[in-house]
Amino acid sequence: RAMDVTELLDGLNPPQREAVASPLNHQLVLAGAGSGKTRVLVHRIAWLMQIEHISPSSIMAVTFTNKAAKEMRSRVEELTGISPKHLWIGTFHSLAHRLLRTHWKQANLSENFQVMDSDDQLRLIKRIVRGLNIDEEVYQPKQAQWYINAQKDEGLRPQHIQPFGDQWAQTMVTIYSAYEEACQRAGLVDFAELLFRAHELWLNNPSLLTQYQQRFRYILVDEFQDTNTIQYAWLRVLAGNAIPVMAVGDDDQSIYGWRGARIENIQQFSKDFAGAQEIKLEQNYRSTGNILKAANSVIDNNPTRLGKNLWTEGDQGEPIALYAAFNEQDEARFIVDQVESHFKNNDRTYQDMAVLYRSNAQSRVLEEAFIRAGLPYRIYGGQRFYERLEIKNAMAYLRLLQNRHDDASLERVINVPARAIGEKTVETLRQYAREHGTSLWQALEQAIRKDLLAARATTALQKFESLIDEMEVTCQSIELHEQVDHVIQTSGLIEHHMKEKGEKAQARIENLEELVNAAKTFDPDDIEAVDENGEPVDVEYASPLAAFLDQAALDAGDAQADEFEDSVQMMTLHSAKGLEFPVVFMAGLEEGLFPHKMSADDPNRLEEERRLCYVGITRAMEKLYICYAESRRMYGQENFASPSRFIREIPHDTIEEVRLKATVSKPVSQQFSVESAQEATGLKIGQQVWHAKFGEGTVLDMEGQGAQARVQVSFDFDGTKWLVAAYANLRPM
Ligand code: ATP
Ligand code: MG
Repeated sequence: RAMDVTELLDGLNPPQREAVASPLNHQLVLAGAGSGKTRVLVHRIAWLMQIEHISPSSIMAVTFTNKAAKEMRSRVEELTGISPKHLWIGTFHSLAHRLLRTHWKQANLSENFQVMDSDDQLRLIKRIVRGLNIDEEVYQPKQAQWYINAQKDEGLRPQHIQPFGDQWAQTMVTIYSAYEEACQRAGLVDFAELLFRAHELWLNNPSLLTQYQQRFRYILVDEFQDTNTIQYAWLRVLAGNAIPVMAVGDDDQSIYGWRGARIENIQQFSKDFAGAQEIKLEQNYRSTGNILKAANSVIDNNPTRLGKNLWTEGDQGEPIALYAAFNEQDEARFIVDQVESHFKNNDRTYQDMAVLYRSNAQSRVLEEAFIRAGLPYRIYGGQRFYERLEIKNAMAYLRLLQNRHDDASLERVINVPARAIGEKTVETLRQYAREHGTSLWQALEQAIRKDLLAARATTALQKFESLIDEMEVTCQSIELHEQVDHVIQTSGLIEHHMKEKGEKAQARIENLEELVNAAKTFDPDDIEAVDENGEPVDVEYASPLAAFLDQAALDAGDAQADEFEDSVQMMTLHSAKGLEFPVVFMAGLEEGLFPHKMSADDPNRLEEERRLCYVGITRAMEKLYICYAESRRMYGQENFASPSRFIREIPHDTIEEVRLKATVSKPVSQQFSVESAQEATGLKIGQQVWHAKFGEGTVLDMEGQGAQARVQVSFDFDGTKWLVAAYANLRPM
């Protein structure tokens, strides 16, 4: 079913039409969220095929996820009736991969090269570091991994890097070099290498490049604001002066700066792709007036923007619901209640609803609340809490305490974190266990007693044995959550991740600390066991730990709805990019959590957090809920949090506070006001104060009222902190 011109332009506004129907030259579509950028891109592809009669195999479209690529394909087919099977559509990574598979020889790869995921990569780097006799404690393999990938993202080979006598950098380059050789020898390619190699493929093979430049007639890139240096370079070389490019993006939605994405590529595009037609889309079709107003007003606080307007013809819609939860459990309960009532009353399906959060670790409490309520949910683009690597490691230690003969758990953690128990040693244990029909733990004991191994290995095993024994003894006399805490500390897991770099390591630590919280709130009575006939039974557990492990296994077992089941989508704000949902819950809008504590003091990172908030708000079509908890167990302890500054940046007249509690509280505008806080604390902004522990500082901000009044103080030596005035005992100077 082919479409004609009018049909293709149907359902597009004038600037969208201009973008879709313009002649084949460079285009930069720069526009805010929900203005139809992705829609334009899809229609443009259809236009190219249908009206310009360009063959699908001559069109390349770059999307942000493979899932988005799949969706785009089916939208194009829907529009044109032409099979888009031959379209070159995918992520930068998948397109690069495809090229390298075809041209492995020119890329100087072996025919059967293997793509390594990030775990494989780390294992290889570890082996290399050891092989080079480099001190693993000083030069962490994880850091080396981060370093290598960052160099590749910038397009740098070891020989391009000049460490200038910097010992650390020098060693990193040495590792990078050895890693590169090892990969080349073994035919291994990591993710960053895919892009890098594809770029070099162009540079080193001019005739091949020409061939592709003749083949492709048009290139389109969605989410352009999040391209990194090497991706942009690859694109630029390919396009050359030959292929027109349409780049589509929104500087306000650049949220991967921490992973090397460069907003500046937007401005660079206009320079490099001369004469690019710039198209602005300003009408938003996704969200109600209130939601849009909130989003616009939040992002307006970012000083460095290209600047755009966004308006809607749609209704103002319902107000944004703001819920001040008592704590994180209350927050989760509230969300569950709202989901249930939307489902029952407002004829919403579950998949109409999404729960978005800043940090991976937040999902645990939400998941549990959903499981308890029997609501179907899916974690989009991520793993469920109990499936995450660091959690599995911690659970393996706990299981070992419970049962030394749990071989799988022992194998998992015997050398995590690294304690010089090598694969050879473990293999010896396995063999002994097989031959003597024992568990690995028993094999380990025998190996020590009978001196079956070299002295070094025996010592390492002895250490491990006494570590586990010590843990068990200590854990016998402390409470469950203290046990979990003890285990993640003494096992070295926390320290292990602490030494790693980057956001991911931080998330792993947060998850581990979240496990302590899980233990703290765990109630064995919540376990619902059934017998063979499905009748509920009371189970007697040998210990709270045994019950906890059981519960975790159940949670991990069957919680997640399968892909096609109608289910609520849970995801981090990062993975929500480009998506839309009628009902959106944003959870955990508290200072320290969102904006994240790691970003609060750095203006650039704070701007990126704010863009993330903008992304979150603009995912909502009809109803947005914003939740924060007055107190939250986070990073292993109970914290009183103040509401995120982003809440204050939302106009009061778009917000309606939800009050479920019987208590009457003042409206949010007054709760947050500086005046009420000044009244309560007797302090003024700008005033010098003295704190018994932190010393001298300046009052930057305050909020709340009465006993809840909080003061933000910038201490001369201790950084900026929010303090509850009633406890802080700040003395005016
Ligand atoms: P984001 O920045 O979040 O990626 P976007 O700019 O890509 O957003 P789209 O996802 O393409 O926006 O469009 C947002 C919504 O508005 C979609 O549901 C889309 O179908 C709808 N839409 C876009 N343009 C129009 C239009 N001219 N008429 C009606 N609906 C439209
Ligand atoms: Mg989009």
